[in-house]
Amino acid sequence: MKLRNWLTLGGIALGSVGVASAINSFLPHPFVTDPLYERQSESVSLAATLPDIDIAFLRCGSVTVPECLAVRGSFSLTARTIAYSAVLVKHPQGTFLYDTGLCADIPLFLMDQSLIFSNTLGRFHMERPLCQHLENLHMEPGDLDFVLLSHLHWDHVAGIPDLPGVPLQLNRVEYDFATQGLLEKNQGLVRRLLSNNPVKLLDFAGPAYEGFRCSHDVFGDGSIILVPLPGHTPGQLGMFINRAYGPRVFLVGDAAWISDNYMVPATMHPILWSMVTSDDATAQQTLIDLHHFAHRHPEVAIIGMHDAQMQEAFMTTERKRPRAQIV
Ligand SMILES: [Zn+2]
Repeated sequence: MKLRNWLTLGGIALGSVGVASAINSFLPHPFVTDPLYERQSESVSLAATLPDIDIAFLRCGSVTVPECLAVRGSFSLTARTIAYSAVLVKHPQGTFLYDTGLCADIPLFLMDQSLIFSNTLGRFHMERPLCQHLENLHMEPGDLDFVLLSHLHWDHVAGIPDLPGVPLQLNRVEYDFATQGLLEKNQGLVRRLLSNNPVKLLDFAGPAYEGFRCSHDVFGDGSIILVPLPGHTPGQLGMFINRAYGPRVFLVGDAAWISDNYMVPATMHPILWSMVTSDDATAQQTLIDLHHFAHRHPEVAIIGMHDAQMQEAFMTTERKRPRAQIV
């Protein structure tokens, strides 16, 4: 055969492999979720007296993606909204945020980023910066006792410049990991966003909790329990909120983008997944753990920090929930 024919044949073969792997990337990727392999866990008995806790999602920005990108194996092109939010939690012993949404100056922080970054992860529609949310709630940054960071990706620390001096708390494992490169990535974006706020590192010395291997009880009263959700980043932390009135809530950082990710379970599209995931196998195991927990506890609101639909639905019921009677 002539060289030209060989080249044509090679081109066709390579093209076919490319098309096949592109199609494959949208097909379902089955997980082993057999109950036989479920981690043994005893259901937690909640404290007899729990405090009344207020929860509010403060949405700062959003972007829409077709569902087939958010959930591998979905062939739907329906637009799903990915939110950039902070969560305001008012506990009798302290008022704090879980993650921080976006600060007013975030466009300035992102100005020097690469074209690829600006057109992928850095592309969003600004809605209301964190400082404006606080103003609308008649709050000053100083009214916050601390901020809990689920993990150190830029989009979870991007509200900190609106919170000068507010102490930050995060998993020691996450901070140690970040010092090995994440802080300096993208022209030091995360380091710059962390500003000069004081940092307190948390160790998860508490017992296994709801199938998660260790825990940290923030106020020592069984109401705010942190658990590790590794994989997306090594030290990502999830937060249970157990309270006197209203449903139990489990905030899961970026362990799942939207609820389908743990209900099916399914990762997002593999290209996106590999862009944002630090350890593929561990992140998949965390999704499986969330899947089992969600099926054991359908009464718990399990909400990812980008899941606009769940956050809106939660806020609708939260506004109507009964509260402690003030006498
Ligand atoms: Zn994120």
